[in-house]
Amino acid sequence: MKFGTKAIHAGQHPDPSTGAIMTPIYQTSTFAQESPGKHKGYEYARTQNPTRSALEANLAALENAAYGRCFSSGMGATDAILKMFNPGDEIVSTNDLYGGTYRIFTKIYERYGLKFKFVDMKDLEAVKGAISPQTKLVWVETPTNPMMNIVDIEAIVQISKAANALTVVDNTFASPYLQNPIDLGADIVMHSVTKYIAGHSDVVMGFVGTSSKEIDDQIGFIQNSSGAIPGPQDSFLVLRGIKTLHVRMDRHCDNGEKVARFLKDHPKVEKVYWPGFEDHPNHEVAKKQMKRFGGMLSFILKDDNQEAAFKVLEQLRVFTLAESLGGVESLAGHPASMTHASIPKEQRLEAGLTDSLIRLSVGIEDSDDLIEDLKQAIG
Ligand SMILES: *Cc1c(COP(=O)(O)O)cnc(C)c1O
Repeated sequence: MKFGTKAIHAGQHPDPSTGAIMTPIYQTSTFAQESPGKHKGYEYARTQNPTRSALEANLAALENAAYGRCFSSGMGATDAILKMFNPGDEIVSTNDLYGGTYRIFTKIYERYGLKFKFVDMKDLEAVKGAISPQTKLVWVETPTNPMMNIVDIEAIVQISKAANALTVVDNTFASPYLQNPIDLGADIVMHSVTKYIAGHSDVVMGFVGTSSKEIDDQIGFIQNSSGAIPGPQDSFLVLRGIKTLHVRMDRHCDNGEKVARFLKDHPKVEKVYWPGFEDHPNHEVAKKQMKRFGGMLSFILKDDNQEAAFKVLEQLRVFTLAESLGGVESLAGHPASMTHASIPKEQRLEAGLTDSLIRLSVGIEDSDDLIEDLKQAIG
């Protein structure tokens, strides 16, 4: 089955008791048993819930993964993956990571004895150099947030396989419509479902997918033991959101391209970071591993300071200044003071994340209105 058909049908069947076409919201914490241990596959809703199961099957299908598990947030999903490892294990990761991922690595799991190394993953030699006999996982994020760097998933998988390490890809920015890491050899794909997958800025959720039974068993054990599960209402909202994922993504991509090209020609804009430009350093890799280039982009002003960026952000009318991304509405953010405030300034500047950098999540409104809005705000 192709993507659009899977988005609408995978994991979902008319409800056996009523024939309801849409998966009901099974708002229950527990399930009746005929005699102890004899039941219809559901015992207690931390372990399984039919609404969540339908969503997990649907998302696994969209990622071409054999198994999938949903969590109460993207960070809950990341937390579950990290709990697979033991003190002394090393994790090699990209140096312009999502701020919250950097925070859980360094502020929580370093205290539990995991070791993290951060490298520029465009530089495959640097990745090889960071790998040691203790390396158990390579953590990839692509496109990266907010610099829109592209990491070559297949090349990284080769390096980690040679070192007997697993590869996980945070696929939040691309969504399963634009990129499928499992097909490229990754062992695990994770998402902040909160973003494009849910798509309407009304749910916080995470996902972990894999085609390895062994990994899924571990993730399932952690999901049930640690308990960071999403509720049935949120699972329903995400199932509903996914039905238009492919349609929304095409519009995000169309609008993203128009906005990127407009900004590139703007006299007050110094640089636009968007993987669709031919002069983007890893444009060829983006073309190879992504279906299209997405609706996320960042730009810096010629007047490269925080005040200039704040002025633009305060003037925006259609774009809303807010954290998060991937919803139908356009959002703008200032990573240096918002999403990436917990990353030390020197490290941030090294990655190119300067004080005037503005990140846009281009929504699915009419592109003319988005461009007009940017025109008046930048001046
Ligand atoms: C938002 C985000 C996360 C964290 O997900 P939450 O749902 O907010 O917990 C992780 N990775 C990326 C790339 C994100 O954008």
